[in-house]
Amino acid sequence: MDNHFDVIVIGAGAAGLTAGIYLSRAKVKTLILNEGAVGGQMVLTHEIANYPGVENISGYELACIMKTQAQKFGCIIKSNLKISSLEIDDDVKRVTVNNKDVYTSNAIIISTGGKSRMIGAVNEDKFKGKGISYCATCDGDFFKDKEIIVVGGGNSALEEAVSLTKYASKVTAVHQFDHFQAFKHYVDEAKKNEKINFIMESKIIEFVGDEKLEAVKIQHQSTSEITEIKIDGVFIFIGYVPNTESLEGLIELNQWNEIVVDKDMKTRISGVFAAGDSIQKKYRQVTTAVADGTIAALSAAEYINNLKKEMHEHEFVH
Ligand SMILES: Cc1cc2nc3c(=O)[nH]c(=O)nc-3n(C[C@H](O)[C@H](O)[C@H](O)COP(=O)(O)OP(=O)(O)OC[C@H]3O[C@@H](n4cnc5c(N)ncnc54)[C@H](O)[C@@H]3O)c2cc1C
Repeated sequence: MDNHFDVIVIGAGAAGLTAGIYLSRAKVKTLILNEGAVGGQMVLTHEIANYPGVENISGYELACIMKTQAQKFGCIIKSNLKISSLEIDDDVKRVTVNNKDVYTSNAIIISTGGKSRMIGAVNEDKFKGKGISYCATCDGDFFKDKEIIVVGGGNSALEEAVSLTKYASKVTAVHQFDHFQAFKHYVDEAKKNEKINFIMESKIIEFVGDEKLEAVKIQHQSTSEITEIKIDGVFIFIGYVPNTESLEGLIELNQWNEIVVDKDMKTRISGVFAAGDSIQKKYRQVTTAVADGTIAALSAAEYINNLKKEMHEHEFVH
């Protein structure tokens, strides 16, 4: 039964790798299956300066350390694959990969993470982490005394615009409508901040630069006039999308498509746990993903141990 594991973890970001470390170290036979590159959003992060115990590290390096740590304890990690189907309702869970390989397990942890909603402008992918950020807490400090743009018109956009004035010399808030959707107190606070100015009814249509972001092209919605503005950084806050599209109908999701879990990272399905950015939560950071991954792993290990105890007792009685 080479393809049978105690636990299969879906997703090898900070949450999934942490679960892999804890489970494998506890001698729970674990397989991590990951679409894309190991490390998830960490590998998009040029520099992580708020992971306790590590003053400064590139996201890629931190991901490599987590991966090596998990493998050292015996965790098997398979990446750059496609999950074709997930069957999680029964006691034995089945995962089919690339339409051919089938792996089974007694428990499953879903840690598929998520992504910030993109604005869809030209070169947005190219400058992600190289001038474009989706996280003020993570990257604000890199823009000390620089000029930045904040995109969005909701609470988080205006709240973050104000918080970014701690670092930036000038913040330009760009919003597609002529009014904000944010609560009045967020709007008032942004408007009274002397470092913030506003460009309304406008959208960024292109990011411009060579290696690093240097400028943006902004189009006015009603006149269609295009203006190019020199800028050091752009922060985008137009929402967040959890990677749960493939889980619809399989597992309970809330109105924002986040996986519903309890405090032990358990879903309502027996033996199915979830952790990290794909679950219902407010703060999405490496530290919080790592914490969720730890809790999910400990809960899954307890589930597996109880299962083994039950099986042993059953054998003993018969
Ligand atoms: C640009 C940027 C900068 C950031 N900077 C910081 C920072 O400085 N400090 C900080 O603490 N946080 C930062 N964050 C946030 C932090 O990176 C995330 O909160 C954290 O890494 C989330 O980890 P995760 O494991 O939950 O999810 P993810 O990192 O999203 O990992 C999920 C993994 O699952 C895989 N996957 C998705 N769908 C499937 C599927 N169906 N099947 C199999 N695999 C799947 C993905 O490919 C990915 O590898 C930043 C985020 C971004 C985008």
